[in-house]
Amino acid sequence: MDIRFLGTGSAYPGSERDNTSICFSNAGYHVLVDVSGNPCRKLKQMKVDLGELDAVLFTHFHIDHIYGLPSLLWGMWLENRKKPLRLFCDYRNEKKLYEWVATMEADKWPIAFPIEVETFDGDQEEQLLSGGGMTFTCFKALHSVPTVGLEVRCAGRVVVYSGDTEINTRIGQYDHIDLLIHEATFARKVAGNHCSLVEVVNKYDMDKVGEVVFVHLSDNELYEEEAAKFCNSKIVIGEDLMTKRL
Ligand SMILES: [Zn+2]
Ligand SMILES: [Zn+2]
Repeated sequence: MDIRFLGTGSAYPGSERDNTSICFSNAGYHVLVDVSGNPCRKLKQMKVDLGELDAVLFTHFHIDHIYGLPSLLWGMWLENRKKPLRLFCDYRNEKKLYEWVATMEADKWPIAFPIEVETFDGDQEEQLLSGGGMTFTCFKALHSVPTVGLEVRCAGRVVVYSGDTEINTRIGQYDHIDLLIHEATFARKVAGNHCSLVEVVNKYDMDKVGEVVFVHLSDNELYEEEAAKFCNSKIVIGEDLMTKRL
């Protein structure tokens, strides 16, 4: 499984980062989790064909996680995509998603591929989709609006993505996580609705985690300095255009 980090920034404007967006790929199946700035360029830079993307999964509907959708659909249309595109969102955002696609007048471009909206209840654990040997299951994250984290399983490996969240006891329940992708809006500061790097390393049992990649990062936060205090080779500060292979 290849995990491509299109963006690793928080909602705050970043000088070197787009907002957080991650593509999971295996055996020619591609799932994009959230859509941030210039998704077409980022996917091309990371060698994912726009025509081959199978699904887009929205963890929540804050603007930093969704605003790239018009650009993505526009690029797919211009490249004459034919394959259906599955869009997954919490049922509480379904109406907004349809209204937004209608506001873009995507039905008049005319798009030659079906857009299939599928909803889930983000307060429940649910397997959302499977493809290319990967399965995606959502669980409730702890944020200011309905938000999910994701468990992705592939060939016996377990990847957990926190989504935007406070420290989540659900993540602490795993016996083992091969790769934990966790938000760290701050390096040390404790604030509601989000996490710091220090909280994550202190409040989860890092012995149960193979590696942790921090995303949703803010400018002017001292991540490297805080990470160095733990002398922990498992900690990776995420960067745009980085790929992890499991
Ligand atoms: Zn966010
Ligand atoms: Zn958010």
